[in-house]
Amino acid sequence: MFKIGCHLSASKGFMNMGRTIVKMGGNTFQYFSRNPRGGNAKALDEKDCSDFRLFCSENGIEQILCHAPYTLNTCSKDENIRTFAKNTMKDDLMRMEYVPGNMYNFHPGSHVGQGTEKGIEFIAEALNEVMTEDMHTTVLLETMAGKGTEIGSRFEEIAEIIKRTKSGDKLGVCMDTCHVYDAGYDIVNDLDGVMEEFDKIIGLDRLKAIHINDSKNPFESHKDRHEKIGEGSIGTEAFERIINHEYLRKLPFYLETPNDEAGYIGEISMLKNLYKNI
Ligand code: FE
Ligand code: FE
Ligand code: ZN
Repeated sequence: MFKIGCHLSASKGFMNMGRTIVKMGGNTFQYFSRNPRGGNAKALDEKDCSDFRLFCSENGIEQILCHAPYTLNTCSKDENIRTFAKNTMKDDLMRMEYVPGNMYNFHPGSHVGQGTEKGIEFIAEALNEVMTEDMHTTVLLETMAGKGTEIGSRFEEIAEIIKRTKSGDKLGVCMDTCHVYDAGYDIVNDLDGVMEEFDKIIGLDRLKAIHINDSKNPFESHKDRHEKIGEGSIGTEAFERIINHEYLRKLPFYLETPNDEAGYIGEISMLKNLYKNI
């Protein structure tokens, strides 16, 4: 079964997001754990969480993806910023225990001049602090475009973070198509080669989700500007190969394209038409 959804606003709770995505033709969705620029999360509504767990089982929603605020920086050189990131992640993960079995994606962060090596050390340290043995959430490192001093635009960096984390199977990777293309992985002309490289360096078993976005910029531009599916430098034909690729076709796909609800409905429907049920 093709798992497809888009980013939704969490302001009206889980049940609202569940009903919205089903109405839109999807069967999974992504949401921000709190204001994407940081700040407090709203009060936890336990009734909404338990209603939603039932709603998922009745509506074929297998897993959803929570996105951490993108302003968190687990590898800042400023200790207060690192502590804030870890505390936010701990709080998010505690909340996710009310909807167990889902995924939590975060941006590894920017080393802001201390160098990749130090940055990787801090990210692994943060993961070792926020992840616990009894948690029921899979934490995902997102592949990045390599803007500024971002860490995680090379598969080797992601692999090194995972290697230094005592994570077991609760740590995975979310591959963003716009970001990897911006980072210099040619998923348009050599998707097989990129996926083999991912498997060799990180391991396919770590790949848990795909952010499916076109890119406003050309290959290897390190810019991170998402475009609507088929309107950017990646293009519809490449997305048809991506969603049907033997390594990827079973994973959940999340649109983060610049769209309103009608635009997302159109993209979900288009991708469902391009998916080959075999
Ligand atoms: Fe992201
Ligand atoms: Fe993304
Ligand atoms: Zn992005």
